[in-house]
Amino acid sequence: MKKRDFIKIGGLAAGAVLAGCTTSTSEGSTAKGLVRKKGSGVLKLSYRPYELQLKHVFTVATNSRTTTPVVLATIEYDGVTGFGEASMPPYLGESHESVLNFLSKVNLEQFSDPFLMEDILAYIEGVMPGNYAAKASLDIALHDLTGKLLGQPWFRLWGLNPAKTPLTSFTIGIDTADVVREKTLEAGAFKILKIKLGRDNDREMIETVRSVTDVPIFVDVNQGWKDRVYALEMAHFLNENNCLFIEQPMHKEQKDDIAWLTAGSPLPIIADEALQTVGDMLGMKGIYSGINIKLMKCGGMHAAYKMVTMARQMGMKILIGCMTETSCAVSAAAQLSPLVDWADLDGNLLISNDVYDGMTVVDGRVSIPHRPGIGIIEKK
Ligand SMILES: [Mg+2]
Repeated sequence: MKKRDFIKIGGLAAGAVLAGCTTSTSEGSTAKGLVRKKGSGVLKLSYRPYELQLKHVFTVATNSRTTTPVVLATIEYDGVTGFGEASMPPYLGESHESVLNFLSKVNLEQFSDPFLMEDILAYIEGVMPGNYAAKASLDIALHDLTGKLLGQPWFRLWGLNPAKTPLTSFTIGIDTADVVREKTLEAGAFKILKIKLGRDNDREMIETVRSVTDVPIFVDVNQGWKDRVYALEMAHFLNENNCLFIEQPMHKEQKDDIAWLTAGSPLPIIADEALQTVGDMLGMKGIYSGINIKLMKCGGMHAAYKMVTMARQMGMKILIGCMTETSCAVSAAAQLSPLVDWADLDGNLLISNDVYDGMTVVDGRVSIPHRPGIGIIEKK
C-alpha cells in the first residue's frame, strides 16, 4: 500500500471512529465504501433463530444429527451493522430457547460507545452465568461492528499476518467403510483430515481413510474411549499412520487416565470437551498437551484471544475449532488463526444453507477475507 493511500484510509477510519462516538452522524461513505446512515447513537440488538441443514448425517462417538440450531444476531450502531452467531450443538446444553431467553434479557441500548468493549462484555457476562454460545453471538457482533467502524479486519487490529494462517482440516464422521471412502475422496482439496473415532470400528476407520489418501490426520475421539491401555495402543497405532494429535480421547472426568496417556503418548493429547473458557485453562496443566479453542465454548473472540495467550505461557499447543455454524462464526475464529498451531474451521462447509460469504480454504489453508470486521457479507 502506498503511503498516500494509507493516510487516505487512515483518515477515513479515524473519521468513522470520531463519528461513531457522537450521538448522530450525517450520511456518508467511510473506509471500504461503508455507507453510514443517521442513527440513534446507541447499540441496537436484533436476533432470529435459524436451523442449519447439514449436507451429510454427522455422527460422532455420542450422537448423530442432520441439523444444528443457531441464532443469528446483529448489533447496529449509527447505520453500521455487526453480525454475530450462536451455534448450539446438543452436547453444550444450549438451545434456541435458552439463547433467545438470554438475549431477551440483554439491554445494549444503555451503551452509546461500541468501543467500550470491556465494559459491554463485562455487562453481558453478568446477565447470567454460562450461556457461552449466546454470549459469543454478542461478542462476535461487537467485534464485527467495531472492526467495520475502524475500517479494518480484526487480524490487522491484532497485528497478525494473514499469510501465516494454518492448514485447516475437513471432518470425516464415523460411518461405514463405503461412506468414509466416499467422503475422503470428496475431501481431496484438503491437506489435513479430521477423523472421528470412539465407536467399535476405530482401526477400520483409519485403514479405510489410508486406502484413499496419505495426508496427515487429526483424530477426535469425543470422549469415546474408556480404557487407558487401549488409548495408548491406539496412540501408537495412530502415530504410525501420520496422525498429528488426538483430541479428547476419554471422558473429561478421567483426569488421571488422560494424564497417564499424555505422559506416555507419542502424540499430543488435546482437550476439547474438558475445557470451555479462560477460567478452565489452569486446570489443563499436567493433563493435556494442548487445547481446542472454540468461540461457542469460550464466549467469543475476546476470551479466545486470552486463551491463546495463556496457552502459550503454559507451553501448550493450540487448535482452533468450530461447531457446525455459518461463515459468520467461522470467519470470526479465522481472524485468530495466524496465532495457532492447527485449525479445524470447516463448520460452514458442512452445511447447505449458509447465509454469509466469508472465510475460504485456499490450498488447504485458512484464507481470511480482507474486508473489515470479521470479513463477512450476506449472501445475495
Ligand atoms: Mg472435538
